[in-house]
Amino acid sequence: MPTGDGLLARFRPIDSTLTPAALTAVARAAEAYGNGLIEITARGSLQVRGLTAATAAPLARAIRAAVAVEEGVPIETAPLAGLDPAERADPRPLAAALRRAIANAGLAERLSPKVTVIVDGGMILASLAADIRVEAAEGGWRIDAGEALGEAAAIAATLGKLDAIAARGPLARARRPAPAASIPAPIGTLELADGTHALGLALPFGSIEAPALAAFAEAAGNAGAREVRLAPRRGFYVVGPGAGAVTRLRQRAAALGFVADPADPRLAIAACAGRDGCASGGIATRALAARLAQAAPSFLDGSIALHVSGCAKGCAHPRPASLVLVGQPDGTCGLVFAGSASAEPAAVFPAGAIPAGFLMLERLYRAREHAQESAAEWLVRLGPEGIAAALRG
Ligand code: SF4
Repeated sequence: MPTGDGLLARFRPIDSTLTPAALTAVARAAEAYGNGLIEITARGSLQVRGLTAATAAPLARAIRAAVAVEEGVPIETAPLAGLDPAERADPRPLAAALRRAIANAGLAERLSPKVTVIVDGGMILASLAADIRVEAAEGGWRIDAGEALGEAAAIAATLGKLDAIAARGPLARARRPAPAASIPAPIGTLELADGTHALGLALPFGSIEAPALAAFAEAAGNAGAREVRLAPRRGFYVVGPGAGAVTRLRQRAAALGFVADPADPRLAIAACAGRDGCASGGIATRALAARLAQAAPSFLDGSIALHVSGCAKGCAHPRPASLVLVGQPDGTCGLVFAGSASAEPAAVFPAGAIPAGFLMLERLYRAREHAQESAAEWLVRLGPEGIAAALRG
């Protein structure tokens, strides 16, 4: 896809799974052919930016040599599928059978590339939107919350639904909105169904420099990790490092800039590529987001979502957020309260004044009257005018 920073490549390993060595190869390819940054999207796909017409093909060859990439209709499974003690059934065999059936039926060529099927072994991906949702249930698999079917009938029913979407035209969708609840960030150590462990980490604002990712992937391989599972909310799990190695690996990740602490204020902020990576960006979003996380760690307590958007398109957080800072074409920054990046800003500030404004918000929040009040509750009480006044100092 063309972006303000050249071409962008987005790809998804089958079952969101790759080896530490493959992740190293992806990082090296991004450095050799792209702008040296790797992104993980909100749905757990990998992205490389800054490609040109000459470098896109060698990148694709390098990626395909290292990773089994999802082709055709994306079939998404949960990041810890087959290992999650909370799931009812491993969704991966059904997902693999569906991929084969869709390829045999030639459906991918007739469908929009955006059509997505989720095969969920529990209610793990319930908050992700999909065109068709296949969920493990008592006695089989339910398609779009219908009655439970055996595997063969579930595949036939899914093919029938995809065929019906394709019959409505090449751009047709059947996307159902997901519940507003969001999936938790993949941070921390989990015990898996097979008794081994997974370490969950996230990329700061969904992006990290390729050398840091390569260094971490090598450390994970050396620590005995067998797989990396990409996860929604811009993160991943490292599966199988020895129990004694998990703490050292988490410390290494934190030192390399990854988000390794569930209380990290960066998790409360969504930020797109902004002016540094997109022609539409009015502000340097991720640099600003990093300063705001430092300025207001208590205020960014996890009860609010802060969206720093390069422009009104709002790519990093299409849903409404508690607070949105939106880059304007003249480089100033609009403030939207409880809305989307496309909403009319309640106030506009010089971008350089925002970090000092967040220092003031932090100070006021710490001094609030009711110590039990969350930042979300406090913001509602303050209202747009109170927030704008605080940001003005
Ligand atoms: S929100 Fe605007 S600036 Fe940010 S990536 Fe999307 S188009 Fe570019």
